Amino acid sequence: MEKIYMIPVNDAYGEVGGCPVCRLRDKAENNYLEYYLGPSLMEPDTRKITNKTGFCPVHWGKLNKAVTNRLGLGLVMHTHLKDFNEELNPKLKAAIPSKAGLLKGRNPDYKIKLNYVADLIEKRIDSCPICDNLNDAMGHYVEVICWMFSHDKDFSEKFRNSEFHCLPHTALLLRQASKLTQNEAADFVEALYSNNSQTFESLISDVEYFTLKFDYRNTDKPWGTSKNSIQRSMRFLSSDGRDFDEQQSRK
Ligand SMILES: [Zn+2]
Ligand SMILES: [Zn+2]
Repeated sequence: MEKIYMIPVNDAYGEVGGCPVCRLRDKAENNYLEYYLGPSLMEPDTRKITNKTGFCPVHWGKLNKAVTNRLGLGLVMHTHLKDFNEELNPKLKAAIPSKAGLLKGRNPDYKIKLNYVADLIEKRIDSCPICDNLNDAMGHYVEVICWMFSHDKDFSEKFRNSEFHCLPHTALLLRQASKLTQNEAADFVEALYSNNSQTFESLISDVEYFTLKFDYRNTDKPWGTSKNSIQRSMRFLSSDGRDFDEQQSRK
């Protein structure tokens, strides 16, 4: 099993609170964000890739927020825009339909051309080397998680005691579990199930309590663990914490 993935997996499961796989994802993502605005700028091969791909909307946003290297961002953006323009605009120009008149008849080919250019734009907007690298790394991480669960008693204990595995990462872990032997999968999925069902139960009860607090008869009751139950539920449902932190909410 690859050691370079075992250390971050162990670290993520060593920390308390939230989904450990989200922590792994966030750390890996931050490393890639730093990489694409740091060392990769000087690597012609990587620049060739980012000139073509740019980044997906989510990662443009994260680069915009995280970046200390505004010059780096400017350089990447400049060559990406040039590349996009060089590919797109000749094709867009060629796709302008000619007007049907007396001499020239109607030609429905223009519809195909317009859709072709639209496809090209959408494909380029969505392509993102950070997403690609991240998906690749997550594949290795879930492989290591399943392996360590069966081979490392301390780790399987930590796995069982995680606060929760968010639902998107539960799905990811289940897909990996489907590649295990039946006996290995039995223990792993049992642990995942117990983790998952407890999370649902406690969130359902906390969110219910949250709603009951709006009843004037309960005004003086303590919030208990229900106060941030909405945000915790969002993190559980979506795995993405971007807009779900308690500071951005009024309650
Ligand atoms: Zn997660
Ligand atoms: Zn991306």
